[in-house]
Amino acid sequence: MRPDECTNMPDNGFQVIPLRAFTDNYVWTLRNAACAAVVDPGEARPVLDYLAAEKLLLVAILATHHHQDHVGGIAEILETHAVPVYGPRGEPITTLTHPVGGGDRVAVEQLGVAFEVLDIPGHTRAHIAYYGSNMLFCGDTLFACGCGRVFEGTPQQLYASLEKLAALPDDTLVYCGHEYTLANIGFAKAVEPDNSALLEREASDARLRRDKLPTLPSTIAREKATNPFLRVMRPAVIESANKYLGKRVSDPAGVFAALRQWKNQF
Ligand code: ZN
Ligand code: FE
Repeated sequence: MRPDECTNMPDNGFQVIPLRAFTDNYVWTLRNAACAAVVDPGEARPVLDYLAAEKLLLVAILATHHHQDHVGGIAEILETHAVPVYGPRGEPITTLTHPVGGGDRVAVEQLGVAFEVLDIPGHTRAHIAYYGSNMLFCGDTLFACGCGRVFEGTPQQLYASLEKLAALPDDTLVYCGHEYTLANIGFAKAVEPDNSALLEREASDARLRRDKLPTLPSTIAREKATNPFLRVMRPAVIESANKYLGKRVSDPAGVFAALRQWKNQF
């Protein structure tokens, strides 16, 4: 089948499938009955196996940032699938064919979806997210009940990036790069032990993991209710951050930096 033979009708069975890579990465695979696009293929094998088993034609690869566990499989996939590779302009990813940045639009016509590129630096220098059709692919910036580490940016940058994501509509489906949810909830409980939404989330996500199911996608609403890194203005969160620091900080970026430092050692 050729790319222009893929259908893009709304009832064509569009789905987002999590392919597992390494121990806890997800390669999010957007597909319909005929075509597929993959986000952050850190490994080629799960992608190639899935495409073959489902008889799907790969039409695009999207990358959020340059870490190997997100882009390490691209070169091998390209050996047998000549497709456009979108990813952040300004990061060292040699396999990109379409470098993109904030405000750019990435359309995957064969799947009937289009994304706006959002700049969300902090985890890496030029980390991007793809937002569209009520979905957000945000790599290692926003995690379910947590956020990525600050490797190349500053805590202030990562905080601003998370604020940008938190401003998206509440029902946006959040597809993160890793299955870190239960560990993140453990930290979130240390920050906000009395958050009842958090305790409910722990029960339902633990049930999913017991059945070996992903806890993703999340939603922006769920993150705003339970993710301490999006709740740095709440009195309980400020109080816990101050207790950790042993001094008084109340500006949102300062509270965020304290939480991020605390989580690194948790
Ligand atoms: Zn990363
Ligand atoms: Fe990662």
